[in-house]
Amino acid sequence: MSVSGLPPYDDANIFARILRGEIPCKRVHDDAHALAFHDINPQAPVHVLVIPKGRYVSIADFGASATEAEITGFWRAVASVAKDLGLEAGGYRVLTNMGEDGGQEVPHFHVHIFGGRRIGRMVP
Ligand code: C5P
Repeated sequence: MSVSGLPPYDDANIFARILRGEIPCKRVHDDAHALAFHDINPQAPVHVLVIPKGRYVSIADFGASATEAEITGFWRAVASVAKDLGLEAGGYRVLTNMGEDGGQEVPHFHVHIFGGRRIGRMVP
């Protein structure tokens, strides 16, 4: 079990493979703590994923186990990516799915950045 109650980190998950360069991605940002790339199935004019470099299953796992430098670096990257993509003026949404009820499909912690249009209210 990971910290979050999900299965342990799986090194074969698709984002781990992207981090290892085994699968291509449309990269928009890459630093010591975070990689950001365009979602392959965009739900908004701008839909980017930001993932930490470390092996964290979910936000719960990341919050409990990552170092302060990793956490700070990750969240700085999220805001920086949104700014670099020109989303600050109009605004944007940051979202993470956690576990089965949250609809998480890829078991490597990630946040979605949606922008480029008015993002409607979330309907569960
Ligand atoms: O939060 P959740 O786990 O549901 O989202 C996973 C996201 O990863 C999906 O939006 C999916 O389109 C995206 N994805 C991707 N590239 C892949 C596999 C999945 O952008 N190779």
